[in-house]
Amino acid sequence: MSHLYADIVLPLAQPAYSYSVPAGLELREGDAVAVQFGARYIYTGIVWRLHNEQPNAKRVKAVGRRLYDVPLLNAHQMRFWEWLAEYYMCTLGEVMRMALPSLVKPRGANEAEFLGAEFSPRTEPYLALAEEWADAEKVAAECERIRRRAPRRAELLEQIAQFDPRRRNELGEIPRRLLECDAAQIAALRKAGYITVEERERRVERSADVGFNLPELSLAQQRVAEQISSSADEHKVHLLHGITGSGKTEIYMHFIAQTLAAGGDVLLLVPEIALTSQLIERMERVFGSRVTAYHSKLTALRRTENYLHLAHSSGGELVIGARSALFLPMNRLQLVVVDEEHDSSYKQSDTAPRYQGRDCAVVLASLAGARVILGSATPSLESYANAQWGKYGYSRLEERYGESRPPRIILSDTMRSVKRGERKNHFNIQLINAMRDALGCGEQVMLFQNRRGFTPFVQCSGCGWTMRCPHCNVTLTMHRTTNRMECHYCGYTANVPHSCPQCETVDLKPMGFGTERIEEAVAELFPEARVARLDRDTSTSQSAYNRIVRDFESGATDILVGTQMITKGFDFSRVSVVGVLNADNLICSPDFRSSERAFQLLTQVAGRAGRREQEGTVVVQTSEAEHPVLGWVVRGDYDAMARSELAERHAFSYPPYSHLMMFTLRSADAMLLRRGSAWFAARMREKFGRRVFGPVAPPVDRVRGVYILRIMLKIENGRSLSRARELLRELLGEAAQHEEYKSITISIDVDTQ
Ligand code: ADP
Ligand code: ZN
Ligand code: ZN
Repeated sequence: MSHLYADIVLPLAQPAYSYSVPAGLELREGDAVAVQFGARYIYTGIVWRLHNEQPNAKRVKAVGRRLYDVPLLNAHQMRFWEWLAEYYMCTLGEVMRMALPSLVKPRGANEAEFLGAEFSPRTEPYLALAEEWADAEKVAAECERIRRRAPRRAELLEQIAQFDPRRRNELGEIPRRLLECDAAQIAALRKAGYITVEERERRVERSADVGFNLPELSLAQQRVAEQISSSADEHKVHLLHGITGSGKTEIYMHFIAQTLAAGGDVLLLVPEIALTSQLIERMERVFGSRVTAYHSKLTALRRTENYLHLAHSSGGELVIGARSALFLPMNRLQLVVVDEEHDSSYKQSDTAPRYQGRDCAVVLASLAGARVILGSATPSLESYANAQWGKYGYSRLEERYGESRPPRIILSDTMRSVKRGERKNHFNIQLINAMRDALGCGEQVMLFQNRRGFTPFVQCSGCGWTMRCPHCNVTLTMHRTTNRMECHYCGYTANVPHSCPQCETVDLKPMGFGTERIEEAVAELFPEARVARLDRDTSTSQSAYNRIVRDFESGATDILVGTQMITKGFDFSRVSVVGVLNADNLICSPDFRSSERAFQLLTQVAGRAGRREQEGTVVVQTSEAEHPVLGWVVRGDYDAMARSELAERHAFSYPPYSHLMMFTLRSADAMLLRRGSAWFAARMREKFGRRVFGPVAPPVDRVRGVYILRIMLKIENGRSLSRARELLRELLGEAAQHEEYKSITISIDVDTQ
């Protein structure tokens, strides 16, 4: 028989390498192994392919040992990684780097370091009745015999003999933590020969119970659930378009329960897990121990335990996580739910692979043979178009559940308020009155402002000077709590200036306003009200965040001021007024998605008002009251927004009528960058003609001292994306070899947002 080789993927931006498989080492594709790379370095690698083809290399190294008793990747995960690497134009190694928790893939400069980095599972004592006490009657008799002399021991022995078999491990052993006793009592039982005790890896016991306690669906919800079920054969993906409070989550739970009961796994993706504690609690109330919450705030140890637990599992798991949960091993994946599918945080933008989690969910599900439910009150135009084109199933829920009614949305014209002298401290009279009414009857208020800090910049009234970051091309934001000027791009801070360094004027004016300034203004307008602020500056830890949310939930605070953070996933029952302090910067941005985004954000903010019986009020302050987006928001007219936006996107072949790829070029040398970008764009134009745009400078074109230019490529639907990627790979190869420009870094963002 010919010799066996393994192609191994390493967590590097490199292709897979071939290693020889020593006789006697049993390997499967997807296994994790320790392999040597370079002179001494030891990495964790993934066995990608086993074959008998003699590699070209002179010396072929041998695979080291296998790291886990199960493969780290199942078959559909491997196909998923391959798709990612191809579509997002990166290597399998880069996917590996991102997809696996760090402790799962130890590495080291030598064997000892590797061993030190390896994951060692937490263990705990498991105990069982000794062989000679296996007979239940014998134990019962023994208990009677010793009961008088040692009542506690008899009781414990009885408890062990009668312990619920479903809560034991596979070997029939009982985890000690589930018994009410201490180590000394266990040691005594063991010494007396009643029981055996083994130290074993701690495993999560999953309850086998499938009697989930779900509320009954309303008639409207039932109709939608039936649509989703009955379209399953025709459409693997279903878009559930339902307004906030219509019960989308209840419908998810209905399908989750079905899937779990049938032994399948479910992946529930949420935009930002830190902001969804309410949803996780709700899921845990119903699905209990089936729930695994997975996100970047977990410790490396916990993430690794979760990963390995799932790799061992044979179904019945509910994973709730942010986009990174897509990479967990789910061996019987049958349902993927993407909540708030329009949310832009599904896109990973900062590091390769720059993947879109929602799109990936659809691909992963099709590879695993699972179904997908995409849910949103304001679907992305991409998903909406797919539904219209018949690619996705589509259902709609247009009424809130129960008595709760949609809020009344009022546009408050800031210009007019100023003219009439009805504006105080960033608040128009309409908003002040609505807040006063709400607070007067013990209700709560949420205020949304999409900038944090006190003011985005300070300007000299004499010469117009503004204070800028020395490393980035932006103005510094003033923060009142820390009394510092801060760069929101690189974190640079400086003292608040007292006078203008250019003309020595002391009259520096704060321009614009952020959440801090609103918090201060509220305190002046409503001195009795208790105000809290939720933004990146106040929620530096999960516990700080939880405290702010809990205080507002319990009514300990009356007014919550915040950024986007307050718009997501909350269900506060006492909020009757929501104020948007300035909608102008949402609707007037030059981005082709700005109308869609503004509609989504404002609708979502508005959805926080009046989630119970009383009708809520939303006041949107703007000086662009005639802007069509605001009209659609007020009327809740998603269809009109979609019609108008899709027509425009079609006219300019923007997504969903095309795919956009963004090339970002960076260098500390501005001249070099300019020349190199011009060259790269010219080479691209030779291949793609007028589909190439740029190079152009992004709004902030210098960050941390590095200059940035961008080139965009637009590939219309119907054109071959894979052919485009092929040409691009050639070009990137050429750029990497180029004598003059190879020091410029180029990153690619496929389906940029
Ligand atoms: P969405 O996810 O669409 O915003 P939710 O599922 O959160 O809507 O429902 C809004 C509120 O109505 C929640 O408090 C939820 O518990 C309640 N609710 C929705 N449907 C039902 C139902 N069928 N039975 C009981 N309560 C429901
Ligand atoms: Zn000046
Ligand atoms: Zn900076």
